[in-house]
Amino acid sequence: MAGQEEYDYREMWGSLGMDVEAHDGLLAAVGQMYGDMFLTQGNRPKSTSYLDFVASNIHSGRIRELVEGREAGDPKKVVGSFCLYVPEEIISAAGAVEVGLCAGAEWAPEEAEKLVPRNTCPLIKGFMGFKLASVCPYIETADLVVGENTCDGKKKAYEEFGKLKDTFVMDVPHVRNEDTRQQWRNEVKRLAGRIEELTGQKITEESLRAAIKLANQKRLALKRLDQTRAADPVPISGLDCLLTIQAAFMDDSVRLTGAINDMAQECEARVEAGEGVAPKGAKRILYTGTPMAVPNWKLFNIIEKSGAVVVGEECCTGSRYYKDLVPEDGATIDDMLNDIADRYLNIQCAIFTPNDGRKEDVLRMARELNADGIIDCSLQFCTLYDMEATGMELAARDAGIPYMHISTGYSADDEGQLKTRIEAFLEML
Ligand code: SF4
Ligand code: SF4
Repeated sequence: MAGQEEYDYREMWGSLGMDVEAHDGLLAAVGQMYGDMFLTQGNRPKSTSYLDFVASNIHSGRIRELVEGREAGDPKKVVGSFCLYVPEEIISAAGAVEVGLCAGAEWAPEEAEKLVPRNTCPLIKGFMGFKLASVCPYIETADLVVGENTCDGKKKAYEEFGKLKDTFVMDVPHVRNEDTRQQWRNEVKRLAGRIEELTGQKITEESLRAAIKLANQKRLALKRLDQTRAADPVPISGLDCLLTIQAAFMDDSVRLTGAINDMAQECEARVEAGEGVAPKGAKRILYTGTPMAVPNWKLFNIIEKSGAVVVGEECCTGSRYYKDLVPEDGATIDDMLNDIADRYLNIQCAIFTPNDGRKEDVLRMARELNADGIIDCSLQFCTLYDMEATGMELAARDAGIPYMHISTGYSADDEGQLKTRIEAFLEML
C-alpha cells in the first residue's frame, strides 16, 4: 500500500478509541503465533504470500483502507457481524462493507466475566473481552454491529454488547419449514431496511445483482481451491486454507478473490506435478465443528505438526461459507432478496433441529476429499456442537470412517494433552 511506511498506525488506533498499548501486546502475541505456526511450514505454495500480506496488514493497512474509504464515501459504512447468517450481499448492495468480529483469542477474561458467565464459550467471551479492552480495530471501526439469535450464549451476550455498541439483532429460525422460511425472508428484508437507513443508500436491482455476483465469485474461487485438496499429496495445508477463509471475513472481496484464484491455479499445477505440502500418503483429516476465528489456529497446527494434513473444513470458517451460491437470475429486488434468504437458511448450523444436512455434508466431504478420519471439535461450553457430536459419531461409524471428538478453548494449556490424543488417533488410521 502506498505510503504505508510513513503512516502512523498507532495514531490511527488511538483515534479509533483503542487502548494502543494493550493492542501492541495483542499484535506481538499474534505475530509470534503466526511465525511459529505458518512460517515454519515446509513447501507452501508461493501464492500463500498473500496470506502473509493479510496477516501483516489485518490490523493496520486494511483498517486504514476502511477508515479512508469511509471518509471518501466508499464504503459508506462498516458493518460488523459474528455469524454466517448475516448476508454480505445486502450490506454491500447498500454501500457498506461487512467485516467479521468473531474473536479467536482470549483477552481480558476477567472483564468479560463481569458481563457473561465464566463458563461461556470462548468465542463469546473473546468478543466481549476484545470490546471491553478496546483492542479490536474492527469492532471499533464498525458503525453498526449485526447480531443474530443463534445460540443462547450469543443471543443473551448481545443484550450486554448492545449497551456498548449500536447493535441490530436478526431473528434466525431454529427449524426449517415454510412458515420459518417466510419469517426469515422478512427478517432479511428488515436487515436491508436497517442498512439502507445506516448508509442513506437504497439497494437497487443493479447494486444487489452486482453484490450477488461479487460474493458468488469469491465462493467459486474458494470451491476451486477446495477441489485441489482431494489430491494426494495435498498441494496446500489446512492451516493456509483456514486462514484464507478467515481472511475472507476481513479483506477486500475483489483482492481476496484474485488471490484465491492465484492460489487455486498454483495448487492445480502442483497437483499436476505431484507436488505437495505434506508427503504422499500423509494421513488426511476432515475437520468439522465450531468456527475458528483469527487467531485460533491451535488445533490445525497440532494436527499438521503431528504429520497429518487437514484436507477440508465443514464449518462456518470452511465449506459452509462457500458451498452454496445465490442464484444470479432473480428478476426483481424482492426475488433476489428471497433467493439470498433461502441460500442462507440452508447453512447447516447446529442451532437447527433437525440438522441432518450437516452429517450428510461431512460424509460427502470425507468421501470427496479422501479423508482417512474426521476430527469434530466444539469450543468449550458450546452445548449445541457438543450435543451434535453424538449423532456425528454414529453417522461416521455407520459410514466406516474413524472419528474423534474434541472439546477445547483458546488457551494453550491443553496443547500437550491434545497432541497426545491426536497422535493416538492418527496412529490408528
Ligand atoms: S456456527 Fe452457527 S451461530 Fe456460529 S457462525 Fe456458524 S451459523 Fe452462526
Ligand atoms: S461456538 Fe457454540 S456457543 Fe460459541 S458462539 Fe458458536 S454456537 Fe454459540
